[in-house]
Amino acid sequence: GDVCRYAVVTGANKGIGFETVKQLAKSGVTVVLTARNEKRGMEATSLLNGQGFSNVVFHQLDVQDAQSIESLAKFLQTQYGRLDILVNNAGASGVVVDEDVLRALNVDPEDWLAGKVFNVIQVAMKTTYESAKLCLDTNYYGVKNVTEALLPLLQNSPSARIVNVSSLRSELKNFLHDLKQDALEVNGWQMMLPAYSISKVSLNAYTRILARKYPKMCINCVHPGYVNTDINWRTGTMPVEEGAEGPYAVVTGANKGIGFEIVKQLANSDVMV
Ligand code: NDP
Repeated sequence: GDVCRYAVVTGANKGIGFETVKQLAKSGVTVVLTARNEKRGMEATSLLNGQGFSNVVFHQLDVQDAQSIESLAKFLQTQYGRLDILVNNAGASGVVVDEDVLRALNVDPEDWLAGKVFNVIQVAMKTTYESAKLCLDTNYYGVKNVTEALLPLLQNSPSARIVNVSSLRSELKNFLHDLKQDALEVNGWQMMLPAYSISKVSLNAYTRILARKYPKMCINCVHPGYVNTDINWRTGTMPVEEGAEGPYAVVTGANKGIGFEIVKQLANSDVMV
């Protein structure tokens, strides 16, 4: 119907974001596929247009760039005058892989990029000032700045929905549980710690504040599952099709939730509380 017509997905040139665009487009929503890199974003959009999804349009968006955010807001205002769905998906891992360590271990870069040598990747993982700052600027400040710029447009929607793609890495209960079991390593905690976890804990807190402030909107976080994408060097076990199901369901669900809902019907996704 007229309720959910226009959606924006951030970081949508690949991975979970790309697949979320596809699922939304399939359901008839006009989706603005955004990406920081114009070329990658346009290629992804052409791919979907070529598959028959003429309701996918591209607009550049670097969530770290205030001018880029403003330009997207202006585009949406001019084209549609409102926004119904915002999927804050763009994310950064907060770590870099130290290639010298890999070389010293005689690992073929092709193999670690394909996630074939997970244990080695963990050994070579480093948090630098730059990688941590990039992570917080993307996963936390980026979401906050994009959301704040698009809120006036979301307020023009009869049924606005925001989903922030968070992570189990932000679950304090999970962290303590794994620590107690001496299972931090086996459950991959050090892989994206500490910047990533801090960014997603902050994101959850921000989401709660937003949900309280805008009780008429449906605002949630979702953990997509451990999905096979570049962010985890393809070590994830779920296909992107399944990874997009959580964000998709939360923004299209018939149930008009307010604030944090536990979406129990999602097999692999948990809404963060
Ligand atoms: P990908 O690495 O495949 O995708 C990340 C996307 O974010 C890319 O499109 C990337 O663009 C984009 N991006 C990064 N920085 C910016 C920026 N400054 N502005 C705009 N876009 C940006 O990873 P996923 O699909 O897995 O990640 C999507 C979300 O899911 C993230 O928030 C991640 O934290 C979350 N998540 C993923 C899990 C998993 O197992 N995969 C588990 C839990 C949460 P570019 O191509 O230009 O780098």
